Amino acid sequence: MPITIYNTLTRDKEEFKPLEEGKVSMYVCGPTVYNYIHIGNARPAIVFDSVRRYLEYRGYQVDYVLNFTDVDDKIIKTANESGEEVQVIANRFINAYLEDVETLGVKKATYNPRVTETMDEIISFIDGLIEKGFAYEVEGDVYFKPRAFEGYGKLSHQSIDELRSGARIQVGEKKEDPLDFALWKKAKENEIAWDSPWGRGRPGWHIECSAMAKKYLGETIDIHAGGQDLTFPHHENEIAQSEAMNGKSFAAYWMHNGYINIDNEKMSKSLGNFVLTRDILKKQDPEVVRFFMLSVHYRNPINFTEELLEGAGNSLDRIRNAYLNLEHRKQSSTNMDKNTDEWLEKISQFKQRFEEAMDDDFNTANAISVLFDTTKEANLYLQEKHTSPQVIETFQETLETLLEVLGIQVEQEAELLDEEVEALLKEREEARKNRDFSRADEIRDTLKDKGIILEDTPQGTRWKRASNEH
Ligand SMILES: [Zn+2]
Repeated sequence: MPITIYNTLTRDKEEFKPLEEGKVSMYVCGPTVYNYIHIGNARPAIVFDSVRRYLEYRGYQVDYVLNFTDVDDKIIKTANESGEEVQVIANRFINAYLEDVETLGVKKATYNPRVTETMDEIISFIDGLIEKGFAYEVEGDVYFKPRAFEGYGKLSHQSIDELRSGARIQVGEKKEDPLDFALWKKAKENEIAWDSPWGRGRPGWHIECSAMAKKYLGETIDIHAGGQDLTFPHHENEIAQSEAMNGKSFAAYWMHNGYINIDNEKMSKSLGNFVLTRDILKKQDPEVVRFFMLSVHYRNPINFTEELLEGAGNSLDRIRNAYLNLEHRKQSSTNMDKNTDEWLEKISQFKQRFEEAMDDDFNTANAISVLFDTTKEANLYLQEKHTSPQVIETFQETLETLLEVLGIQVEQEAELLDEEVEALLKEREEARKNRDFSRADEIRDTLKDKGIILEDTPQGTRWKRASNEH
């Protein structure tokens, strides 16, 4: 069965065919780092991580880019208010973001580019757009002209004239057409700025994603994803910039996740129902939060309430308890069960149904209901007089593998044995020798998760167990 994806660009579910066989390039718009993330930002992190995990489960090698907007008006404002440097603020909230999503079981991105580290590529991208006649400079600002790009509005399904009627020129803007948007902003006095052919300034928001996608994934990518609110203008502008510059289709599939409501109301600062992810994670098992987020299809709105979260916790417990009961029964099972083949066939059908649900535009809600059916069936099996170890193990493996696709561990991980720690350390040493620092960091993090603390000394790496379990 092929994977199908609902593509915002065509408003249709399409069969997924990557550009290169066996490989997927995926770009997800990341946060502007001036605050801790709220629960609405946790949703795309979790759902697109599950998309990635499923693609990997299906054998694809996924290159996953998530960017950080580490310089912009909001960060500058926050820095001015607190008297700190822009970079200090940005670093603090990048680290906080990475910590929060790691707690939520989100795999590390292949690349996490930052605006301030992509400045050369951004500047030459803008330069190219001016050269090709899609952009112009006025007194140190550079603007993109959507009217010069045929196809503007194709993602948000609006005509250029409809868009024109909603656009305004703000006081102080020197653009020719209200639709034009900034690629480069001239620096105000004492503001953080970079040198450019148009004087000191910094990039507008949209250009970074076009420049980063090109740098890390190439001119055409498979999947571009983000929150529904980014469709217009952000993603529309990304398409215009990239396709104007490269003369090629920018992304084959556009995926957008739905909104999150808090107690049936839109989350907003003015309503006072703004929920930070870290505050939730202080009280809740992160895997329950993740399971809850995936219990609704990513394109639908999701309602976040304490009761629903508790319900998700109970549901996940049901699955985990079935797994533990299977484990318990394994010891006393014999090979006297005559229906083994029948049961194995049943289990493989559950696996197939799970895959069908995920193939259908990553429908995690239906996939989870297949997991409940599997659990129910496992419980029924445990009522049989004779059980076979083979059936029990297959039930366990199936639950484990399928939950792993959703980024959830079926049981709390056991402690590592000393020789396992040593083996990982050896591998890390090798990785560092080969300058594969991302693998080395990954191992350090894995060990940290298991309560193993590393200390790099001139004599080599020492390790010890943390005194409390995590
Ligand atoms: Zn973006």
